[in-house]
Amino acid sequence: MLKIAHLYPKQLNLYGDGGNIMALSKRLEWRGIDFLVDQIDLDDEKKIADYHLFFIGGGQDSGQELVAFDLLKRKKELSDFIEAGGAALAICGGYQLLGKSYETSDGSIMQGLGILDCETRAPSSTAKFQDRLIGNVVAELLLDIEPKTLVGFENHSGRTYLGEGAKPLAKVIKGYGNNGEDGYEGLIYKNLIGTYLHGSVLPKNPHLTDELLRRAIAFAGLELELKLLDDQIETRAHEALL
Ligand code: GLN
Repeated sequence: MLKIAHLYPKQLNLYGDGGNIMALSKRLEWRGIDFLVDQIDLDDEKKIADYHLFFIGGGQDSGQELVAFDLLKRKKELSDFIEAGGAALAICGGYQLLGKSYETSDGSIMQGLGILDCETRAPSSTAKFQDRLIGNVVAELLLDIEPKTLVGFENHSGRTYLGEGAKPLAKVIKGYGNNGEDGYEGLIYKNLIGTYLHGSVLPKNPHLTDELLRRAIAFAGLELELKLLDDQIETRAHEALL
């Protein structure tokens, strides 16, 4: 059975992020693959090591503050999970907290887990562009999957800067992405994908959903093929945004 963990669904769930769990679940269900989804809340006893894929959504700074401490308590188990090849998707606020740190616009700093080699800062007082980075995004995926386009919606104040060897997920065609400066969006490390894209991102990018599922299935050691699905509706949503 494929086991999925949804971290802090009450505190981190913006712009339809919960829809990502629906997309993962539906694409497993439509193929007759056995799976479960568990929610992991603050002070939960459940262990990430018992799962094959985890999802963490985005949130307002206040929501991120509520989970930051609990998340730090899970630093070792989450890092061990990713290093071992576990699959994961982290959106916006969740993505920022899996990086090294997040400095909010009021100057306070949230320590991150440092699993992803990146750090996030509010724009400096001298920066030309102080606004939140908001709008629809089209990007070109730097993964070996088809189609190459990724669509979604972003809304963040934090600007994320990748470390030297870190691999971006995509190149921005329209929108801001990680920081509105270097033209990149998201980060991929092993089987962990971090992205600024809400929307929800997975329902309208079924190729990315299946890539995550493929990686989780391989990590679980399950001998399963992902059968082709009728994606006419998903493809129309994707193309409408393009
Ligand atoms: N609060 C964070 C920021 O503004 C993340 C926002 C989000 O998850 N959409 O940068």
